[in-house]
Amino acid sequence: MIVGIDLGTTNSAVAIWREGAAHLIPNSLGDLLTPSAVSMTDDGDVLIGAAARDRQATHHKMTATVFKRLMGTPKPIHLGTTRFTAEDLSALILRNLKRDAEQYCGEEVTGAVITVPAYFNDRQRKATRRAGELAGLNVERLVNEPTAAALAYGIADRSDREPFLVFDLGGGTFDVSIVEIFDGIVEVRASAGDNRLGGEDFNDALALLAQQRLGLPAPGSMGPLRELMRAAAERTRRALTHADAASFSVVWDDREYRTDIAADEFEAAAARLVEKLREPVLRAMRDSRLRIDEISEIVLVGGATRMPVVRKAVTRMFSRFPNSGIDPDRAIALGAAVQAGLKAKSVDLAEIRLTDVCPFTLGVDVMEQDRAGNVRHGVFAPIIERNTILPTSRSHRFQTAHHHQNTVAFGIYQGESRLVSANVQLGSVTIPVPTRPAGQVVVDCRFSYDVSGLLEVDVTIPATGATHQLVICDDEEVGTTDLEERRAALALLKVHPRDQDANVALLSRAERCYEAFIGDARDDIGQLIAQFESTLSTQDERLIADMRREANDELDRLEGERFL
Ligand code: ADP
Ligand code: MG
Repeated sequence: MIVGIDLGTTNSAVAIWREGAAHLIPNSLGDLLTPSAVSMTDDGDVLIGAAARDRQATHHKMTATVFKRLMGTPKPIHLGTTRFTAEDLSALILRNLKRDAEQYCGEEVTGAVITVPAYFNDRQRKATRRAGELAGLNVERLVNEPTAAALAYGIADRSDREPFLVFDLGGGTFDVSIVEIFDGIVEVRASAGDNRLGGEDFNDALALLAQQRLGLPAPGSMGPLRELMRAAAERTRRALTHADAASFSVVWDDREYRTDIAADEFEAAAARLVEKLREPVLRAMRDSRLRIDEISEIVLVGGATRMPVVRKAVTRMFSRFPNSGIDPDRAIALGAAVQAGLKAKSVDLAEIRLTDVCPFTLGVDVMEQDRAGNVRHGVFAPIIERNTILPTSRSHRFQTAHHHQNTVAFGIYQGESRLVSANVQLGSVTIPVPTRPAGQVVVDCRFSYDVSGLLEVDVTIPATGATHQLVICDDEEVGTTDLEERRAALALLKVHPRDQDANVALLSRAERCYEAFIGDARDDIGQLIAQFESTLSTQDERLIADMRREANDELDRLEGERFL
């Protein structure tokens, strides 16, 4: 069975294609979204999902969230004394989703289509693919998130669609795509985005506003206060989605700090972020060569598009109201399931095809000489321009620049700047050339970009027939043996038993609430925890389930809207 997975910064989800439609699969708690959080208990058990997310405030040194932002970097993330990379943690999330799907469908999951932000670069994509492999999944394809969302919309009514714009603002990333559906072909015309913009940034803006007003110490870059402020901001921000004002409160040093935040105050604090939403939209519009009035619809995707301040900004930008017909946090997983159905050659998708584009320009660094003979190094020579239809393969011919040089070295870059120093370096390749006067040796450089957005570079010297294929030379590139070792290491981690998930999640939540409240409420929560722990020791499943429901209801009452 092939599943579709939305591996999100904040939440992940898994879906399948069955009987002509995409379906989300509930996790062990019965939720359709699984928070992308991993935590380690003192006993060395690994918790994943809601239970882990709720430990962010109470056990922040043992808990990791928003690690998708570090995908493709070797930066270590410590949970206690155990060291992980974003790739490892993502593998744990993926493994959990795989297990949920297997449990639910009673079938083994062999492969997956995984979504990535359109703006993910080659390193981030390779890291995502490796995370899938570490989780024991055959990664059939990576699909850009807005493209997946467009597939979900396109399949929903199976009709041709004029170009429409998918506006996807999640917890940590922002993506824009312009898509057209014609004769069963879903074609992405242009994509743009900002992979450092999402709901988390709005939390930071709100937390800063509250911190200044409450005279709290500036939350250092890490540490418990920062996590408390973030969690409080998240609650306030969600409440502001449905109200004109909401209270913000944190308990710090056994004192409660509380203030009311009005919706327009939050909007003012978020103005700079809202402004940042414009640039990717304008870029995608320009690249698609469409006018705003040629865009038939604006489709909102990603949980953060629920914020009224974002909806207003979109309405202003396009002078019309956006569409959010499909639940914004489900569309991507549903679209991934459609792609999984396509991969499995499902008959009811026989007439559908998907074409996607490369969201950024790829090229090499060259030396340039102006008319006055001044030499400039590090100039970017594009080979594949952004928004070229995938798969694609393009070749450029270059000449040697120096007399008697015996090698040619290319740096491989991705980005839009004229100078490579401002672009992302993906790797480099060096190839020997015959020693001749400058300009006498030609070198062909071919870039091939596949449908998952993964790059291959081939350099050929026609004079000698020598060829060289690029191996991305960065330090985090791993061989297959290393992958095996890492998979074995992850397999050794003790994952908490699935049938205990609901109990662990409740306890994490109750502990978080215990720290977040003071006074009577805190006492009540303390009793609730003690009571639940003694119920657990009865090992009576019915009793435990009843108590769990009661306790969750009680926490709902205390906390207002739940996180999910
Ligand atoms: P990701 O793709 O990053 O996993 P999601 O699409 O699940 O993210 O969106 C998560 C973001 O949506 C979070 O920043 C969360 O705060 C925000 N969000 C979800 N529901 C609401 C809501 N009702 N009001 C405001 N923000 C919301
Ligand atoms: Mg998302």
